[in-house]
Amino acid sequence: MESALTARDRVGVQDFVLLENYNSEAAFIENLRRRFRENLVYTYIGSVLVSVNPYKELEIYSKQQMERYRGVSFYEISPHIYALSDNTYRAMRTERKDQCILISGESGAGKTEASKKILLYYAVTCPANDHMAALGDRLLQSNPVLEAFGNAKTLRNDNSSRFGKYMDVQFDFRGAPVGGHILNYLLEKSRVVHQNHGERNFHIFYQLLEGGDDDLLHRLDLDRNPQNYKYLVKGNCPRVSSISDKNNWKTVMKALSVIGFSDEEKLLNIIASVLHLGNTHFGEGEEGETHITTETQIRNLEKLLGVDGSALREALTHKKLTAKGEEMISPLNFEQAMSARDALAKAMYGRTFTWLVEKINQSLALKVNKGSSVIGLLDIYGFEVLQHNSFEQFCINYCNEKLQQLFIELTLRSEQEEYETEGIAWETVKYFDNKIICDLIEEKHKGIISILDEECLRPGETCDISFLEKLEGTLGGHPHFVTHKLANGKTRRVMSREEFRLLHYAGEVNYNVNGFMDKNNDLLNRNLKEVMCQSDNQILNHCFRREEVIDQKRPEMAATQFKNSLMKLMEILMSKEPSYVRCIKPNDAKQPGRFDEVLVRHQVKYLGLMENLRVRRAGFAYRRRFEAFLQRYKPLCPDTWPNWHGKLADGVSTLVNHLGYKAEEYKLGRSKIFIRFPKTLFTTEDALEA
Ligand code: ATP
Ligand code: MG
Repeated sequence: MESALTARDRVGVQDFVLLENYNSEAAFIENLRRRFRENLVYTYIGSVLVSVNPYKELEIYSKQQMERYRGVSFYEISPHIYALSDNTYRAMRTERKDQCILISGESGAGKTEASKKILLYYAVTCPANDHMAALGDRLLQSNPVLEAFGNAKTLRNDNSSRFGKYMDVQFDFRGAPVGGHILNYLLEKSRVVHQNHGERNFHIFYQLLEGGDDDLLHRLDLDRNPQNYKYLVKGNCPRVSSISDKNNWKTVMKALSVIGFSDEEKLLNIIASVLHLGNTHFGEGEEGETHITTETQIRNLEKLLGVDGSALREALTHKKLTAKGEEMISPLNFEQAMSARDALAKAMYGRTFTWLVEKINQSLALKVNKGSSVIGLLDIYGFEVLQHNSFEQFCINYCNEKLQQLFIELTLRSEQEEYETEGIAWETVKYFDNKIICDLIEEKHKGIISILDEECLRPGETCDISFLEKLEGTLGGHPHFVTHKLANGKTRRVMSREEFRLLHYAGEVNYNVNGFMDKNNDLLNRNLKEVMCQSDNQILNHCFRREEVIDQKRPEMAATQFKNSLMKLMEILMSKEPSYVRCIKPNDAKQPGRFDEVLVRHQVKYLGLMENLRVRRAGFAYRRRFEAFLQRYKPLCPDTWPNWHGKLADGVSTLVNHLGYKAEEYKLGRSKIFIRFPKTLFTTEDALEA
């Protein structure tokens, strides 16, 4: 039989705290690699679960496996997403405290798959509530629906979530799931009208064309070929080998019916209308005026949305302004008409998505229920550094700064609390506090978001470059903010004049300011809103409210809206006990068995894993409850074997004395033993194996 030592060499340690050299990134990555090679995709850092995407189906997610992990503690069995799910559930049950599981990682790292596995674990293993038997189903079925409308094929992931998601699962006093609620964050609406090469629009468009039956397509005036739709051809990628749009269409339609959805027809009318809108073209008259050249499309929109065709025609080519209390109509030029059309498509799609989330929430309905508690699941975009970073990456990376801040705060807090409850002196840990970067972005009046808003509201000639100049004026000299301008008035050659660079906790990112103002404004001409308000389609009626047209007050801008929703999210998360899943993508080719060290190293950095390990290892490598420790190692001492009858602490003390632990190697808390070095534990483990 293989000795314990060589097994450890082969498969690495299952908890990074057991690494001898815990400051070495190389050792960290080597441990990940060894485990990945053995298909051991999960490893702990204390209570944090690190997961590496295997890019192949592993036989570790069956019902039997779920049973193995039920009620078992972390250390007794190999690391698994089910172990984390189970521990979180039990903590909620025994401590009666709300929990949350924060899943992070870059695109394609496996966040959404992880969140689905957690949900499945609860749906299968938790007691069912008799009159709520279908709730587990509805929770599970919300996924295919949200993925159809909110996910797309990108270069990095064939099924990439283009929105952030936080989902509460509510359990009653017996531990049965009884309700749920979803919050969605910042859908990437620009994808509706434009896709980069090799990418697609949201799945639902292709599913409809591929899977919808002939009658349906006839009613919607659509043909099956995605190439015929301008909004679907930009990425030149109508089909994806790993995706069956036809089968997924069936799944989505079934899911909608499980959720209890009865508005499919109206929903699909909107989806089809977006495609017709994309095929609406404009011509330029001799005087520079714009007119619509595609009458069929307008007639389709008129029919499908129940709007007035001539009002729509007018609104797509003219703008209504109110100046000094008087209404004026001014014609749009060709470019303006195109962007008004695109803005309408994005608004229709984006608002319909939010409506869909509301519908799902109605179906999952949180219950007013005494003694209930929740587990929240956060599946949100990870830190992003692309070749070209724009407004979206700015928001996403800001979100990651906030999560990092929360993580550091909560991890340190819980470490400190544990030391306190165990009566062990706290040893201070040095760490990088990223508050300075959060402030740089979000501070009132002085932060980037405030400056952007101000610039968007300022009357007169403003543009992205004037925004950049404002940033330079206010933030030049900030240690985490850089532009092409050097302090001595010279220019930094390596940076373009349209960029600013932020030194994030996870690394540097250059943002191009082009489009920042437009995206932050996210404007839709008022007359287009009016047309939508008058639609016969009840979904659109819900999405475009009369009050919005009447009320001249400017709604919050996109970045501020996002900032406020993040603040609320932080509050929600702060009120819960957190667990973490950190997902890593092993290669860019989406292939099994390939471990690209450079790529992994980047992610270890972005995810702050070394910092995490350092905090966790600051004092003691390992800790275990007295009874668990005694249970496992009691055979090693004649006084504790087969049973120890006195106090647990005395038993542990007797045991470690017998094993020759030195005073500096360990400490006894109130209920746990703390072991300073992994070597001590390994020696004890090896003695057990011998
Ligand atoms: P994004 O940020 O783009 O939404 P993500 O982190 O949510 O990315 P997923 O969609 O969860 O990434 O995973 C990408 C793909 O990787 C999945 O479609 C699946 O093929 C594969 N994958 C992820 N996790 C696993 C797993 N545990 N087992 C097998 N395959 C997996
Ligand atoms: Mg995802």
